[in-house]
Formats: sequence, C-alpha cells, structure tokens
Amino acid sequence: MSAAPLLRQVFGFDGFRPGQEEIVNAVAEGRDVLAIMPTGGGKSLCYQLPALMRDGLTVVISPLIALMRDQVRALTEAGVAAAALTSGNTDEENTEVLRALAARELRLLYIAPERLASGATVPMLKRAGVQAIAVDEAHCVSQWGHDFRPDYLRVGELRRALDVPLAAFTATADAETRDEIVRRLFEPGAPQVFLRGFDRPNIHLAFQPKDGPRRQILDFASARRGQSGIVYCGTRAKTEALAKALNEAGLAAVAYHGGMEAGERRAVEIRFQREDGLIVTATVAFGMGIDKPDIRWVAHADLPKSIESYYQEIGRGGRDGAPAETLTLYGPEDIRLRRGQIDEGLAPPERKAADHMRLNALLGLAESPGCRRVALLGYFGETATPCGNCDICDDPPQTFDGTEAAQKVLSAVLRTGESYGAGHIIDVLFGTETDRIRARGHDRLPTFGVGRDIPRPEWQAIIRQMLGRDLIRPDSERHGGLAITATAHAVLRGETRVTLRRDLIKRARPAVVVRT
Ligand code: ADP
Ligand code: ZN
Repeated sequence: MSAAPLLRQVFGFDGFRPGQEEIVNAVAEGRDVLAIMPTGGGKSLCYQLPALMRDGLTVVISPLIALMRDQVRALTEAGVAAAALTSGNTDEENTEVLRALAARELRLLYIAPERLASGATVPMLKRAGVQAIAVDEAHCVSQWGHDFRPDYLRVGELRRALDVPLAAFTATADAETRDEIVRRLFEPGAPQVFLRGFDRPNIHLAFQPKDGPRRQILDFASARRGQSGIVYCGTRAKTEALAKALNEAGLAAVAYHGGMEAGERRAVEIRFQREDGLIVTATVAFGMGIDKPDIRWVAHADLPKSIESYYQEIGRGGRDGAPAETLTLYGPEDIRLRRGQIDEGLAPPERKAADHMRLNALLGLAESPGCRRVALLGYFGETATPCGNCDICDDPPQTFDGTEAAQKVLSAVLRTGESYGAGHIIDVLFGTETDRIRARGHDRLPTFGVGRDIPRPEWQAIIRQMLGRDLIRPDSERHGGLAITATAHAVLRGETRVTLRRDLIKRARPAVVVRT
C-alpha cells in the first residue's frame, strides 16, 4: 500500500511532518538511511510507515522499554501486528510473541539491544524472515556520546547476519557521533543521510484574520500577477467561486478538487506544470503529485486542518530556493468548523484530543505575538531566532497584558453556566439588557457590565484570541456554548498571564464577529 492512505488510516495524520516524506520514501525503497531529526519531530513514523508499505517483518531496536510498550500498544490499537521482546515481558507474553514470530504474523518487532547478546536471537530473527532493521536512538552506538550502550555495538553484526537494509534515527547530530554511527552500523556501506533542518528560510510566512476574505485573496494574487500560485480552499464550492473571481480580475486561474473527474484533474496538473503564472484554486486534494519547483506563492483562503497540514501546504512553494510568499487567512468560523469536524469524526477520544492540540498549535501560530518561524519550528522541536522573513518580524505587533480581560470573559462564561455563545457573553460583559439577558437574570450577575470600557468588536477579538489559545472552547454537547478549558484555570487563578496582540484587537470589525 502507498504512504498517503496508510498515513491517514493507520496513524490518523493528514500530512507528513517536515522531513518525514523523504525519509519514508528512502526507507521504503530499501535504502540504508541515517536520519537526524529533533526530538518530537516524528521519527517513529519514518520506520513504522515503511514497515507497512513492504511485506514481512521489520525489527526495531530501541533502548527504552516504556517507549516500546507505548508504541506497540498504539500500533496494536490501530490494527497493526506489532510486538516487543523485552525483559519486562511475562513468560506468557514471550511465548505468544515467539509463536507469532514463527508463524510470520508480525509486521513490527521491537527488541531491546540486550537481547542481541543472546546467541539465540540472530538465528531466530533469520528464521522469521526479517526484511529491514530500524534503530531508534542510534547515538547509543557511539562512545562519543553520554548514552553509550555497549549492546548497540551488536546491531552492526545483526545487520551483517541478516543482510537487510538498516535505517538509523537519532536526535543527536554532532559530526563525531554521526561518523561513529555510520562506521559502526553501516560499514562497509554508506547510508543516505537526512540532516536537513525543517526550516524553509526562503518562504515568507504571514497570517491575517479574515476581513473580506475574497478581497484579501484577490489583493494578494493581483500583487503577484504573472507568478504561479496556489490558493487552498476549505470547500469545493469555494475553489470554483474563487477561480471565477480571479479570472474576472484578469488573473488566469483554474479550480481543482476531488469532485472533478480524474482526466480533468490531470489536465489541470499538466497545465499548472507547464504554464507560467497560472493560479490553481484547490482543495487539499491538490499537491501530492505536483513537482513544480517555481511555485512563487501559496495562499490559504481558509485555515488548514492542523499545523502539519499548514507546513506541508506552504512547503509546496519555493522548492527552487528562490523567495516564495504565503498568506493564511483565518476566522472564527474556521475555528468552529475545524473543531466541529474533529468532534463529529469517528476517531477515538485520545486521537480527537490530539487533533484539537494540533489545531491549537496552528491557531497559536496564527495569533502569535512573536516571530512565526520561531513558533513553527518550535512546534517541530527545533529552536530558532527571529527570522526576519515573516509578517511579525517585518512589523512587530504591539502586545498588552490581557490577563484581566481574559479573566472577565472566563468569569462571565462560568457564571452563565458555560452554555452561551460569544454574543451573549459580550452582552453580559458590556451590560446590554437584551430580552434574553433579562429572562435569564444575567443582569443581576456580578460580571454584568464589568467590560463597558472595551467596545464590543474588541471583545470579539479578545474572545477569538482566547479561542486560539484554547482557553475557551465551543462545547459541542451544549449546542456550541462556550466552555472553559483546563488551561484556563491557571489564568483564573492569576498564575498564568495572557499576552494579547493589540493590532488584532484594534483591527477588529464586525466582519469577524464570533458567533456560536
Ligand atoms: P520522536 O521519536 O521524533 O521524538 P515521535 O515519533 O514520538 O517523535 O513523534 C512525536 C509526536 O508527533 C507524536 O505524538 C506523533 O503522534 C506526532 N506525529 C508524528 N508524525 C506526525 C504527523 N505526520 N502528523 C501529525 N503528528 C505526527
Ligand atoms: Zn519571523
């Protein structure tokens, strides 16, 4: 099976993280690979996914029993035949693993390096028909580092005995360690090394709240007339509508989405590849097979699904290394839509929670008070300094301490029973005596009218930033009424301060009303 459907079905991810796709492809092709990725960058996927793309068994050497157990549990839950042989196993567990191994039922077998010291292990793995070896925390093979594990030295022997490709992963990248890994694990061969950081410094990053989104996209595209670009849209209908609007503005644009026939889609791909200055307005269906190095800009007319999707989609720009620009629009309706899609999906609760976190990360990036690249790379585990190539670095926004305002919102949400949308909460804060306010007795709450000093549109922008920071969340079980999250308690207690962006508040207009 190919990578993309497995990624979705087995792992529940909608895109690759930076660097993963290239590594997955190399490993799946049976190359020897050494990949250096920051912690949290998503190394496990780089050997788990190829293990499912090929037949037979992949052996994973990992030094951490707890980690092996977590991974085996997650894989088993996803329906993958995986097991671990560790000192923590019971006898019954071991018997079952050995049986499954002999029956060639397993796709992934995790073993602790100590196992390799036993003379029985290599012959057993030989009989089990191992197709590939993956080595996690490969720096443990190096005497240079402080994590040296003598048993890792046996991995080289294992590889020679089995004569299969080996993929080694580590987060430690210094040159000495790297050389030693290559020497001890791959000699006499040489692996393909993946060390490229995640940063794509030529891509300019920018976000804007939706404020007449069609005009915003038209302005952005018109300023880049003659350049090839992609506009990602949240719906098929919008790809068509935007293509029409762009054409009417004299810009050559064509729509692309999964509802079109394969032949039609292929024609758009070919045209985009060949023609200069064409704009494709597309759903996420566009891009997987596109290999066009000189895409000069990528815009999002709607907020992507997650920070991973965002990175992957903007990453289609500027493959040639020349400057490329991006613009991502977002609004409260995007946040509501994306949260709703997660809540209404069929995924198990942990996956939904993880999906909310990935969306939060993107929203945090959208309303980041600091450099976007620092925030983006930070999410992927890489540290960076302010980049000078994002809208925030270009024009740093003013921030202010919004803790008190946030506390007022949280308190109004709590006192009204976490059942109302932003409009009603603002009525309470602003002291607006609507029929509903009177009927519910909310004009008698101590919070009633405590926010008269701040105009209504500004409250809307404050609430939107709070949604982005995941301090409040529309509760799908209560008709989308706002509820406070676990993170908000520290704010209510005054333990965490909330820094808000002044520009997003001053610019707030009724066009970005938060309706729930
Ligand atoms: P590492 O071993 O590099 O520290 P992991 O393999 O444990 O990192 O992955 C870190 C986290 O990233 C995990 O929670 C994993 O579910 C998540 N992750 C990995 N790949 C993706 C992806 N393509 N999309 C979304 N999340 C991902
Ligand atoms: Zn920056």
